[in-house]
Amino acid sequence: MSDSIIIVGASHAGIACAEQLRANGFSGQIKLIDRLSGVPFERPPLSKGFLQAGGSDDKKFLLRRSDWFSSHEITLIDGREVTIIDPETKQLQLDDGQCCVYDKLVLATGAFPRRLDDTSKLENVFVLRHAKNAHELRDAMKGRQNAVVIGGGYIGLEVAASLNKAGMRVDVIEIAERLLARVASPNISAFFANLHEDNDVGVHTGVINQEILQKDGVFSGIQLNDDRIIDAELLLVGIGVSPDLDVAVNAGLNTGDGIIVDGMMQSSVSDIYAIGDVARVDGAMSRIESVDNAQNTAARAAAAICGSSPPPKTAPWFWSEQFGVRLQSAGIVPRESAAVQYVMRPGKREGGLSVWTYDGRGKLAAIEAVRDPAAYMLGKKCLDLGLSPPLSDIGIADFDLKGFVASGAA
Ligand SMILES: Cc1cc2nc3c(=O)[nH]c(=O)nc-3n(C[C@H](O)[C@H](O)[C@H](O)COP(=O)(O)OP(=O)(O)OC[C@H]3O[C@@H](n4cnc5c(N)ncnc54)[C@H](O)[C@@H]3O)c2cc1C
Repeated sequence: MSDSIIIVGASHAGIACAEQLRANGFSGQIKLIDRLSGVPFERPPLSKGFLQAGGSDDKKFLLRRSDWFSSHEITLIDGREVTIIDPETKQLQLDDGQCCVYDKLVLATGAFPRRLDDTSKLENVFVLRHAKNAHELRDAMKGRQNAVVIGGGYIGLEVAASLNKAGMRVDVIEIAERLLARVASPNISAFFANLHEDNDVGVHTGVINQEILQKDGVFSGIQLNDDRIIDAELLLVGIGVSPDLDVAVNAGLNTGDGIIVDGMMQSSVSDIYAIGDVARVDGAMSRIESVDNAQNTAARAAAAICGSSPPPKTAPWFWSEQFGVRLQSAGIVPRESAAVQYVMRPGKREGGLSVWTYDGRGKLAAIEAVRDPAAYMLGKKCLDLGLSPPLSDIGIADFDLKGFVASGAA
C-alpha cells in the first residue's frame, strides 16, 4: 500500500476521499491542499441558507470542524496552490516553491464559474462558487433594492430566491426557452418558473443580455436583445462552470471537458486519480456536478487506492431549495427529444408532485420530486434496481408504486 497520498482540492470531493481512505484502513500520510484559505465551507448553502443568514453563526456551514482534520491525522495545507505536477518524479510544487512527494495523487480541483467578458472590471458583479464569493455577495445585498441574475440554472434560481427573500426586486435572464433547460424536465422548469413569478421574480426566458450597463465602473443594469432595459444595482452571473484543469493539462493527463478517468477514477497517468466536478468518466454523457457525485467518486478512488471493493453503482441524485420548496431528483434527465416522455404523478401531500422521465426506449431515466420525498425515495430505488414502472400507470395516483418496487426488489 502507498505511504503518502496527496489530494489537491479540499472541498466536497477531496474531503470525502480523505475520509474514505481512512475508513478503508489507510494509515499513511494524507495531505489535502487547497488554494483557498481557512477551513473549507460547504457549497450548497452558499446560494441558500448562507446568503439568508445574518453572518453571526457561519461556522455551522463548515464542511468539517477544524479538529476533524487533526483527529483523522489529515494535514490541511490551505491558502496554497498546486502549480506543477511531475508524474515522472511523483512530485508537485506549490506556489510558495515548496515541493511535495506523493505515492498516489488525487485531483479534486472542481470547477470555477464562467464569467461574462464585459463585466470583469465592474463593481457589484458577482459569481458564486465558494465562501468568499458568498460573503461578498451577502455584504453587497445590504441596503440594495434591485438585482439581475443572468442564468436560470439551479444556482441562479436559488440566488434569485435568496435575494427576493432579502426584500430585493429580482429579474432572472435565461437565454434558453425555459429555465433549468440543461438539467430538468419541462414540467419542473415550468413549476419553478411559476414559483418564481408567484413570488414576484421577473422571469425572462429566450432572451439575451445585449449590453451590460454601467455608471462610473459600477454595474447599473442590463439591456436585453428586445431593447428592454432593466435597471439594477447588483448582478449575479450564474452561467455554469468550467472544470479546473490547468495542472492536469500541464502534467500531460488526458483531458477534455474534465479529466478523463475510468470507472475507478484512474486518470490516463498511473497513480493519479480525479474525482468530483473535475472528473469525466470515459464514455459518460457529461461530467456530473453534485455533492452526491463528489462523494461517490471519492469513495471509488479511495477503494481503488486501498484495493477495497468499490461502492455499489447507484443513480446520481441532487437537490435544490427555492422559496422553501425542496426538489429532489435522481438519475439524469435526457436531452429533450420527441422520443423522451414525461409523466406527472400527483403527490400525497398538498402541492406535492413528481415527474417521471422515460428515455426513447421506454426505460425510466430520471425522477424529479417536489414536496414529495416518498416519490423520490421510491423513484431512486427504481433507478438503483433498474426498474421502470409502467408508463401508462405511473401518472395514476392510485397506482401502487410501493408494491411495484417491493415486488421488483424481491
Ligand atoms: C452555490 C452552490 C450551490 C450548490 N448547490 C448544490 C445542491 O444543492 N446540491 C448538490 O448536489 N450540489 C450543489 N452544488 C454543487 C456542489 O457543491 C459541487 O458539485 C461540489 O462542490 C463539487 O465538489 P468538488 O470537491 O469536486 O469541487 P469544488 O467544490 O469546486 O472544490 C474544488 C477545490 O479545489 C481547489 N483547487 C482547484 N485547483 C487547485 C490547485 N491547483 N491547487 C490547490 N487547490 C485547488 C479549489 O480552491 C476548490 O476549493 C452547489 C454548488 C454551488 C457553488
